[in-house]
Formats: sequence, C-alpha cells, structure tokens
Amino acid sequence: MPRQLFVTTALPYANAGFHIGHMMEYIQADTWVRFQRMRGVKVDFVCADDTHGAPIMIAAEKAGKTPQQFVADIAAGRKQYLDGFHISFDNWHSTDAPENHELARQIYRDLRDNKDGSLIETRTIEQFFDPEKNMFLPDRYIKGECPKCHAKDQYGDNCEVCGSVYAPTDLINPFSVLSGARPELKSSEHFFFKLSDPRCVAFLQEWTQDGKLQPEVANKIKEWFSVRTNPDGSTSEGLGDWDISRDAPYFGIEIPDAPGKYFYVWLDAPIGYLASIKNLLTQRGQSYDDYMANPRLEQYHFIGKDIVTFHTLFFPACLHFSGRKTPDNVFVHGFLTVNNDKMSKSRGTGLNPLKYLSLGMNAEWLRYYLAAKLSARNEDIDFNADDFMARVNSDLIGKFVNIASRAAGFLTKRFDGKLTTEFGGMGAAILADIRTESDAIAELYNTREFGKATREIMLLADKVNAYVDQHKPWDLAKDPANNEALHQVCSVLINAFAVLTRYLAPILPSLAQSVQSFVGLPMDQWDVDTDVVAIQPYQHLMQRVTPEQLDALFGVIEAVAPVEPAQAAIKKIVKATPITVSVDPNAPGGEALAPTIGIDDFAKIDLRIAAILNCEAVEGSTKLLRLTLDAGEKDDAGQPKTRNVFSGIASAYKPEDLVGKLTVLVANLAPRKMKFGVSEGMVLAASHGDEKSNPGIYILNPWPGAQPGMRIH
Ligand SMILES: [Zn+2]
Repeated sequence: MPRQLFVTTALPYANAGFHIGHMMEYIQADTWVRFQRMRGVKVDFVCADDTHGAPIMIAAEKAGKTPQQFVADIAAGRKQYLDGFHISFDNWHSTDAPENHELARQIYRDLRDNKDGSLIETRTIEQFFDPEKNMFLPDRYIKGECPKCHAKDQYGDNCEVCGSVYAPTDLINPFSVLSGARPELKSSEHFFFKLSDPRCVAFLQEWTQDGKLQPEVANKIKEWFSVRTNPDGSTSEGLGDWDISRDAPYFGIEIPDAPGKYFYVWLDAPIGYLASIKNLLTQRGQSYDDYMANPRLEQYHFIGKDIVTFHTLFFPACLHFSGRKTPDNVFVHGFLTVNNDKMSKSRGTGLNPLKYLSLGMNAEWLRYYLAAKLSARNEDIDFNADDFMARVNSDLIGKFVNIASRAAGFLTKRFDGKLTTEFGGMGAAILADIRTESDAIAELYNTREFGKATREIMLLADKVNAYVDQHKPWDLAKDPANNEALHQVCSVLINAFAVLTRYLAPILPSLAQSVQSFVGLPMDQWDVDTDVVAIQPYQHLMQRVTPEQLDALFGVIEAVAPVEPAQAAIKKIVKATPITVSVDPNAPGGEALAPTIGIDDFAKIDLRIAAILNCEAVEGSTKLLRLTLDAGEKDDAGQPKTRNVFSGIASAYKPEDLVGKLTVLVANLAPRKMKFGVSEGMVLAASHGDEKSNPGIYILNPWPGAQPGMRIH
C-alpha cells in the first residue's frame, strides 16, 4: 500500500489577485508534492478561496455585486496564476461551497454536543455598532484617537504610531470607517470555543510539543500556554477562549440553532481544506468518510508564519474534540521580501506575478530561484534581482542545461542519436557518483530543504562540467580516430543530464517534460538508474534572463494611461519604481505628502469641471470605464466637443451611476494611446495608500452649481 497524502496550501482571501507571497507558498508546496508523486506516493493537493467575512461583504457592496458574485469573479482569475507557475492542484474550491457549510455546522454541533461536556458557550459582550449601517463593526472598521499617544485616525485594535494595543472602546472620539457615524456600544450574545478548557490545554500541549512541528514554531507556541495578551493590552495566564461568532449582516455560515449568528470567518476557513478534498472525492465518486478514516492517510498544511495560531491551536482542537483526524503536520514558512523591501499588503512587493509572466519570463526561473532560497525553517527570504539573474544564468543554464546542449549535437550528427553504454572508467565513475546521491537528495526534498537540494545538485553539475573540460568533446570531434571516445563522453553527458533533470524535476516540471521527449525516459519518476539509449534532436530548453526583463519587471512601469487615481498615475509617470512607492501607515491617507511646489507649478495643471455625458464598460478590461465628457469645449465649427477618457474605476462604479454627474478633469494632460483607444485627459479620484485595509476609489464630484468648463483654481 503506497502512502496517501492530503496536502494543502493556506486558503487565500478572495478579495484580490495573488501577490508573489502566495506564489512562493504554492511553489514550495507544489515542489514537495511533485517530489512525493515522483516517489510513487499518492497525493491529493487541494486549496480553495477563503470567501467569508466583513471585508469581502463590504468590498462586494462597494463594487455593486453580491458577495457570491464578487468571490466568483475573483475565483475566475486564479487559473492564470496557477497554470502560469505550473502549480499542480487537484482541486480548487470555495469556503462558501455547500460542503463547507455542512462540515462547519457539523463540526460545531459535535463540539457543542461533546460527550464529556460542551466546548461551546455563549456570553454577552458589548461591542461597537454602526447605527447608520446597522451592523456591528469589526475592530478594523473603527477608527479614532489613540488613548495613549493621542494620534488621530488610529484603528480600533492598535495604534500604528505608538504601537499600543487596546480595545476599540478605549478609542477617543471613535467613528465608523464605513459611515463616519459615531459607533454605539451595544450588547450581543457571542459564541465561544472554550480553548481554555483543561481538556483542550492538555491536548494542545501534547499536539504542539510532541516534536512534529518545526522547533522554532513549537517554541513560539509554548509561550502562548503561559501568557497571552488581551485586547486591552493586559496579559493573562494560559490560552483564552475564542470568539467564533459574528452578528448579521455577515457574509458567512449561519450557526445552527442560532438565527442571525454567523461563524467568524476563521472558524470555517481551515474547514475549507476538508470541503475541498470532499468535493474532489465526490467528483471521483469516492467516499469522504472512508478517505478520512484511512489509517494511512497523512494530512499536511503549508502556511505562512502569520497564521500559526489558527493552524496549531484552534484548528487541531476543533478537529480533535469533534472526533476528527488532526493534521499530521503544519509546515510554516516565513515572508518573502523583494530587494529587501518589506511587502506592502496592498501593492505586493513590486514583483507582480502576472506581470512577470506577461514579460515572457520563464515561470521555472522563479520556481528554481525560490527553491534555491527555501529551507525547512520558518525564516524570511529575499528575492534579489541580481542574485536571481546569477542563479538562473550561471547555475541553472550555465551549469545544468548546457550539459545537454554540449553533447546532443554530436550524438545526433555522428551517431544517429544512439548512445553507448560503454562509459569508460572515468565516465562510469562520474555517473555512479551522481546516481548514488539519489537517496540523500530525496531526503532533502522530503524534509523541504530545497535550498540544500539545489546546492547538492549544482555540485554534481560542477563535477560533470569538470569531466567535460577534461575530455573536450569539441576537440575529440576534430579527428574521426576519436569517434569512440567522443561517443562515450557524449553518452556519459546525456545520462548525467537525465539524472540531474530527474533531481530537478519537482522544481522544473515543464523543463523535465521537454527532457522526457528528448531522452525518451519518463522524467516524472524518481528512477535514476535506467540508461538513456537514444535521443531526439536537441531543442533549446531554456533561455537566459536578460537585464532588460528585470528592468521591465522592477523599473519603469510600462506607459500608464490616465486610468488610475491621479496620485498613483503621477507616481508612475515620474519613473517611480514600485520599490520606492511604499505605503506609509502614519501619513494621511496612507502615503507621505509629495515635496512642496510653488504656485507656478500648480498653475501648470489645468483642472476643469466636466459633465459625464456617457459612461460604459470597456470590453476586454475589468478595470476601465470609458467616459464621454463635456468640459465646455467647442470645435472649430463652434459645435460642442466631447472628450473620450478611460478611467480605472470599474471596481467602484457602475456606468449608470456616473452618467449625468459632474467631475474634475485634468484637461491639459497629453493624450495617451491605450489598447482600447486614445484617452484625452484624466478624471480625478481619491484612494488610500493602503488599498487592502482601505479599499475603494472615490471619484471627485463638485458642489452643485459648478458648470462644465469652469477652471479649478
Ligand atoms: Zn498611539
């Protein structure tokens, strides 16, 4: 019986596309999964969108969509990333799917009805309520003055100026981010999972400290058993209970026997792993219960270091005390920085995965580079552009791919593509050296030491290249008397290349696929001992990275039409790299003020009132709306003249909402040619520097009475 693995990556929140941090986790997990599959292990590798909670509910409302429609639109965009980076998920599901509703409610019932005493209890708590939006406010939707340092405009849970942690009720002059209204304290019954129950504490102490977790992760968790920080900044002994309910309106799963109460998104999100595998099994006609009851099933979750609590305390406790299988392990990775710049949650890092692909950059360069940096430890890694180019061009192509290109031509031209198995003493020794590393390299993959694995593989490539330099096939080829030696050397090289390809196949699946056709041996099996007998003519396997590609990826953003809020567009026009465009949470609106200018500079910008005569969606673009504007202008014949302007506000407005409204036009901006036509100006809109925690675009709308064509001074 082969091992059966059930492997997941963390569920991404369905309010945006993927950033490079997501792709790193998927590449890490995918490499491990592909390795296991090569070894004959059966693996089901699944993920899903995390769809519930207030942020999605609010973003959907702003976009004029139902939450279901909103998350479906996000889900539709996932495939291009996953296919683009060769991520081999068997299933992609949603936490709003029926399987998850059913599983979450059943797990809850099992916890509530636990035969040794319920692990659910209700308590009445006081919470801020927005009287205009008629809803309880999550901490992040309340702002006010910090009670400690009196900084204005701080979130309900902590101050970004002095770092204090407090309860939203401590804020001075609190207001709702959603409506601006002063929130009222209102009491509500909440449901708690009793994590402080001695049964939970005893179980989790064992589960987290039995040696399976990474040592640095287990040590961190150990601290949580002795002391915890309360919402008001004070500390208490031991694990605290977990508030698992939210009041309507909430996009989520309704709690059984509790109308108007919903599971907090973090209760049902990890259950989404189970919903996704259940959905996959249903598609295959297999029983979920039988699958989960298989004693040989091993369950693993790859996650980032920011969600360790949920995966090592709440999730295993919920599973265990509802009578279910708990994970065999949770593999925690650190964060990815790009050129040593901390990632901004809203803008990512400047390494945009889709942009990377759109520039024609090879997905497997990135897979190789990240693998070369990853270890089994929970530690941050940095993407450095120079290092990236060096590792891809010097190691991957210079040391590895070139082995094949150096030998293939001679074999095809001189020996009809046939290889010999007479390798000669030295050739046989080299091949034996490479093949005997199989178990050691396999163990490095198995323990997620991908960086060490690639180093070992490159050391073997160095040995092969030393053999090439000693035997110089290009010199041998000059004299037909050396034919046999040439055949031998080239056959050794192709065999060495085939073994190295297998070693790299978990990281480079597409390249391995090409090599499979080239050498006529399956590259998706960890079989390093079968000799290659013949090759097909060599086709180029991989290009080098060019500095121009990296410049395009990180440097000047491609010509950006006035489709974005003015501030963002101006940043791009001034040749800003995304690395220097950083969100500053302490600055007004999340970004620092631009340098001071004189009135003359301001006078150069001609802002005019414009009436929106027509507005329509742009076919082929999800971001843009096409506006027809009247800015009071006339053509040479004295007839009214309109302007065509594209604006990146489709996420915030429906075309019909804007028709007939007045707005502000940058009237003297040079026209820009775009994919969809020429844009003759730019309309002004506001947005927060940190678009993730403060999503939304707000188009400017002048006070009634302003007329089209009036200048704004
Ligand atoms: Zn403060």
